[in-house]
Formats: sequence, C-alpha cells, structure tokens
Amino acid sequence: MRKLLLFTITFFVALGSNAVFGYSFTEDFDKGFYWKSFPVEFDVVESNNLEEGRLEGFLSVAIQEWEDETGHDIWEQVYGGTKNVIRWTDDITGETGFSAASTLGVTIRHNVGTFFERVEIVLNRRIPELVSNRGNLLYQTILHEMGHTVGLGHTNEGGIMQASLGSFNQLYADDIEGMKAVMDESLWRQDTGYISDQAFTTVKSSGCGGVGSDAASNGAGMGYLISLAFGLLAVYLPIRVLRWKLLPLKAQHTH
Ligand SMILES: [Zn+2]
Repeated sequence: MRKLLLFTITFFVALGSNAVFGYSFTEDFDKGFYWKSFPVEFDVVESNNLEEGRLEGFLSVAIQEWEDETGHDIWEQVYGGTKNVIRWTDDITGETGFSAASTLGVTIRHNVGTFFERVEIVLNRRIPELVSNRGNLLYQTILHEMGHTVGLGHTNEGGIMQASLGSFNQLYADDIEGMKAVMDESLWRQDTGYISDQAFTTVKSSGCGGVGSDAASNGAGMGYLISLAFGLLAVYLPIRVLRWKLLPLKAQHTH
C-alpha cells in the first residue's frame, strides 16, 4: 500500500512537472516581463536590397509558420518605423559577448518597467553556412530566434527551440505548445494589468535556458547589462544564443 501511494505521488509529480513537453520560458519572461500588446511589429534592417529582400522573405515565412501553428497573431511584418529588427552583424562578440566561431544568432530583448520594449535579432555574418543558408540553416535560425522574441526559451525535447542543431526544419509539437503557453500567459498578463515584482528592482540573469555552453562558462553568458536611466530600469539581456553545433556541417564539406 505504501508503495502504491509512493507511485501515485510520483506519477502526479511527473505530470505536474510537464513531463511531456520540454519547453521553457526565457528568464526575463519567467520573471514577469512581457509584451504590452500584440502583434509586435518586426522589420529587417539591411543596406543591400537583394539581401534585405531575402531576409524579409525568411521573416515572413517564419512569422506565418508560428502563427499558423499556434492560431495567434503574434507579429506584424513592417517596412520601417519599428525598432524591432533582424539584421546581420560582423562583430557578434563585440555586440553580445558570445563566440563568433560558434554563435549563429542572438536575440536581445530590452525591457522597460514590466514590459518588453524592443527586441533585436543579430545574425553572425562570419558563419558561411548561415550566410549561404546551407541546409536551410538561416531560416531555422530565424525561426528559432523569433521564438525568443516573445519569451519562449530553449527546450530539452526535440524541436526548433532546442539549443543545439538537430534535423529540425520546422516547428514541432513542443515548439507549438511552448509558444501557446507564452501567448496564453502574455494575454493573461495584459488582461489583468500584471506588473512583475521584479520590474523595478535589480534583475540578475546568467542567461537563458540552462544551456551548457562555452558562452556560459567563459562568462559571456553573464553578458547582461543593467542600467538605471531616468528612473526606469532597462534590462538588457542578450538572452539567447543559438549554440548549434556546426561540426556536422563542416564534416559534410570534406565528403
Ligand atoms: Zn536560442
């Protein structure tokens, strides 16, 4: 009887701990930061017209994929007039502190008060496979980073939101359930006027998702900057790095 009781308790604890899905929220979203309203405007910043068009195409498809799968109106693609942008960088280490050799992209969220105020996705132009979209890597990266823009973190199950490269070319069940959870929580906070009790206090973060990466161990994962300006707390969290392993791609070059 005691064994049965123990089993029952274990079973319900397992259920309660989200045993089926492995998604997570980003640390700032967990602490109560969120978008004030949806859709979030998003744009591409790129001086080369051809490249701008290519990135706009990827962004458009990524938005559509997330929204079709979740049934939520999350982003609106615009052409100017927003600070929420996706762009290339030649100096991802200088901008974010993460390794230029192994980081594909970083999503930077800026917060004011309890709200996300603007977000940037920076893509590492020093990774040739990313620039050439080898194996659809650029699209996968954009799809992944878009998840981070609203508070979806990494997953320890299979999906586009996992921290390391897999054979995931599209959204999987875990990604979709995770985004639905982010949206449900965001809409609830909007409806209730929720204010994080962290919003006006110092927030410290070691980065996102519990990824065991070089970036975290060399201190770059601690690359947050906290600044108090004009009475508002702006929290700058270079939250997520895509530490997708590029070794399989490089190995393919030699074959
Ligand atoms: Zn990530």
